[in-house]
Amino acid sequence: MKKQFAVIGLGRFGISVSRELYKLGHDVLAIDINPSKVNEMVNDSTHSAVADGTDEKALRELGITNFDHVIVAIGDNLQASILCTLLLKEMGIESVWSKAQNAHHHKVLDKIGADKIIHPEHDMGNRVAQHLMSDKVIDHIELSRDFSIVEISVPKSMNKKTLAELDIRAKYGVTILGIKRGKNINISPAADDILQQRDVLFVIGHNNDLKRFEEST
Ligand code: ATP
Repeated sequence: MKKQFAVIGLGRFGISVSRELYKLGHDVLAIDINPSKVNEMVNDSTHSAVADGTDEKALRELGITNFDHVIVAIGDNLQASILCTLLLKEMGIESVWSKAQNAHHHKVLDKIGADKIIHPEHDMGNRVAQHLMSDKVIDHIELSRDFSIVEISVPKSMNKKTLAELDIRAKYGVTILGIKRGKNINISPAADDILQQRDVLFVIGHNNDLKRFEEST
């Protein structure tokens, strides 16, 4: 379903989010205070506009209140990022995701009601580190401090075995969410599904259990 997104602040992060959303077929309003940043997005957004994210009148004129999702990707200017987030929540935007520069910034954004706070460098660093630590882990998504989803290749030891035989949930306390085979993803794996060595598993669980599972494979 086509959704409407507004992205305020077109640094590397804001541009990358806007481009991807637009590529996925959504409507994207790309806003920055700097005209050259806005020009860069003319062909990669539904609409792009020069505006100050802390100017309520300017945001209203752009119809920001019609958007369910707004991403505040203003970086170094913490004051502008905080004020913009606060204004958007006061204007009743349902989902405001804001980029934080550090822990203090995160705390303030949390207090003023940001619905999700993103730390792109930290999150990406984490994923790369997890990937580097294990040659089996293809990707790692942190859900909270303790829980994650990992994408892991099926090892030789599991080849041609059914999920029932492997009894992964009972042994390790982790759950197989899906099995990827080539381009197909089986999102409701059954007990009698047979694994093949080139398959990729999507596994959710506590980080300690996921680690035990990875090490056992
Ligand atoms: P990135 O790491 O994503 O490149 P950054 O953390 O270095 O970004 P900045 O470059 O400081 O962040 O800010 C991102 C963008 O936000 C810039 O293009 C800047 O022009 C824009 N910006 C800053 N203040 C405002 C504001 N008040 N309203 C709209 N855009 C703003």
